[in-house]
Amino acid sequence: PREIREMAVLPRYVRVNTNKTTLEAMIAHFTRSGFHQVEGMPAEKKAFALDAHIPNLLVFSASSGMDWFRSPLVAEGQLILQDKASCMPAYVLQPPPEAHVMDGCAAPGNKTSHASALMGNTGRIFAFDQDARRCKTLEFMTQRAGCTNITTHHQSFFDADPQDPQYAQVTHILLDPSCSGSGIHEGEGGAQDAAGRVAELATFQRDILLHAMKFSAVTHISYSTCSIHDAENEDVVAAVLAANADFECAPMPVLNDWSRRGHDRYPFGRHVVRCMPEDATNGFFVALFKRKTV
Ligand code: SAM
Repeated sequence: PREIREMAVLPRYVRVNTNKTTLEAMIAHFTRSGFHQVEGMPAEKKAFALDAHIPNLLVFSASSGMDWFRSPLVAEGQLILQDKASCMPAYVLQPPPEAHVMDGCAAPGNKTSHASALMGNTGRIFAFDQDARRCKTLEFMTQRAGCTNITTHHQSFFDADPQDPQYAQVTHILLDPSCSGSGIHEGEGGAQDAAGRVAELATFQRDILLHAMKFSAVTHISYSTCSIHDAENEDVVAAVLAANADFECAPMPVLNDWSRRGHDRYPFGRHVVRCMPEDATNGFFVALFKRKTV
């Protein structure tokens, strides 16, 4: 129904790309442009706020009147249009400066460029995507974002060889694999997703996580989906933990004040994060795996 769709209109989240500019410069820009900063959710047209959970994320009302897709600051890569939930995987992963990082399912590259910015554009990010057209977008988006620490690999992540010396120092992996998208296409995919397709996706998601765990120096893996189905979320985490005893689903170093968590019936339920439109985000899921010896 129309009312439900209208209620689900999300605020416009805008990530300040610290590879190119600073939060202070962007706040000054919007203040000069007639916006004023508020606490909490910006209700008025010309209000904006700092997000309460994600650093360098600005929140605008959906009805700010801004044509964000034509904004020169977006075209210059100073600002990146990225939903709040989609900012969680790289933030939770916390890749340190100078680290070697992989993004196994990277295109169009919003999480890749976020990881790059969190690393201060240092170290190396190996960004994979198996789709040629999406790889072009990944290259375009990460170049526009001024990332100089990313190399694009047009290949399946399954073909990245854990024995390859170039990956020997990889410690952090972002994995945001294809999913049903049921957290975004509410009422279309949603509950009606064919069980068979979801089961197929869950097997793929489990296997790609298990592949990531084969890289011997890897200590941290963030896993995310824009699905609300347990089958692609907690069930995948449980299947991976059952198959690889070297990793645990660890408490996150950040987002501890985020109250929507995974289902209690899983031992790791409190350690994973869920997002719903009620949180003013898309439906989303994030888990952090950590090697037990770390
Ligand atoms: N992380 C991206 C971002 O934030 O911009 C979005 C990733 S999207 C949810 C999933 C991507 O995984 C798609 O671009 C798809 O082409 C890619 N993909 C699917 N199977 C793959 C595989 N085996 N190896 C590498 N990429 C794969």
